[in-house]
Amino acid sequence: MSLTNIRIVLVNPSHPGNIGAAARAMKAMGLESLTLVAPKIFPSEEAVARAAGAEDLLGRCRVCATLQEALASCHLAIGTSNRQRTIDWPMLEPGACAQRLVEGAAHGEVALVFGRERTGLTNAELDRCQFFTTIPTNPAFSSLNVAAAVQIMAYELMRARAEPAAPLQGSADSPPATLAEIQGYYQHLEEILIAIGFLDPENPRKLMRRLYRLFNRAGLEQREVNILRGILTAVGEGVPRRHS
Ligand code: SAH
Repeated sequence: MSLTNIRIVLVNPSHPGNIGAAARAMKAMGLESLTLVAPKIFPSEEAVARAAGAEDLLGRCRVCATLQEALASCHLAIGTSNRQRTIDWPMLEPGACAQRLVEGAAHGEVALVFGRERTGLTNAELDRCQFFTTIPTNPAFSSLNVAAAVQIMAYELMRARAEPAAPLQGSADSPPATLAEIQGYYQHLEEILIAIGFLDPENPRKLMRRLYRLFNRAGLEQREVNILRGILTAVGEGVPRRHS
């Protein structure tokens, strides 16, 4: 398994010190692939100082404008949060989360996504993830510093790598679909559901989120996405366009 296939993604970090501390936490656990989404200040001396010897990770880190861009080539993304969401998002314990990521990394790129220091990840950002994980804490004081959360998850990833990898579901001849492919499918699905009058464009969020959950649980292969899109194309051909 290639370690570079496991990406740690920090969304909108505002303190450069946290970026450096996250790099240090990663390097100590053998991880090397850091992606920053729209960091407030980067590069920065403070990040280098807090990296304390892990500045090589900072030098190689990828900077993206959006989370969508950061995850495009990944086939698995797991979000982290200290909060339970109102919609019951598929959740994994930190150890199970690490195992999934290590298994997934044998088949391509995977990502573990961390949120903003103040506000965490938005629901729309969690929509881009197939699962999320919460590190158990004191319920009355559940919010960890983001670099501390990276440290704990990096440790879980190191432990998971030491365990024998379980075989991934799915067939050997069709790779798992990337998140960019899955996103393309979701957009297509939404268009067709609106065209056939099943989805009300005035109130689309909950239905789509529930469908995301369903398909995320299934772990779609590339071939399956192609079949589903083929069905949507065939359905679309039989339906008069609403807005044209
Ligand atoms: N007040 C924010 C907390 C953000 S803490 C909120 O309500 O979401 C910054 C980031 O650190 C979070 O987005 C998450 O990625 C990580 N984090 C903090 N505490 C965590 C915990 N208990 N479990 C998992 N991730 C956590």
